[in-house]
Amino acid sequence: MTAIPACPTCGMENTYPDGDNYICPDCGHEWPQAGVSQADEDDAVIKDANGTVLADGDAVVLIKDLKVKGSSITLKQGTKVKSIRLVGGDHEVDCKMDAGSFMLKACFLKKV
Ligand SMILES: [Zn+2]
Repeated sequence: MTAIPACPTCGMENTYPDGDNYICPDCGHEWPQAGVSQADEDDAVIKDANGTVLADGDAVVLIKDLKVKGSSITLKQGTKVKSIRLVGGDHEVDCKMDAGSFMLKACFLKKV
């Protein structure tokens, strides 16, 4: 469970969730839960091929050759990525390499 944030308008902590919103009974302010950026926004855990949880800045290697869509580049199995950045979406890992920056699926990566 995540802590309910204090009201951004009046700062009171009697807030409660209601559907997709938080509600502050003190001032009547309502705001969407999704729009609140709390420290625990990484509850969508991203795991590598071994089930190891990945984090920003981790180093990974590719576990298979990956063809880059729309180009002639093939990223070779065993290629190291020194520092990944996790993003949302279908291809959840942003990998900066010598060949460029690529969005890859975590299931093709292994933490080193
Ligand atoms: Zn309030």
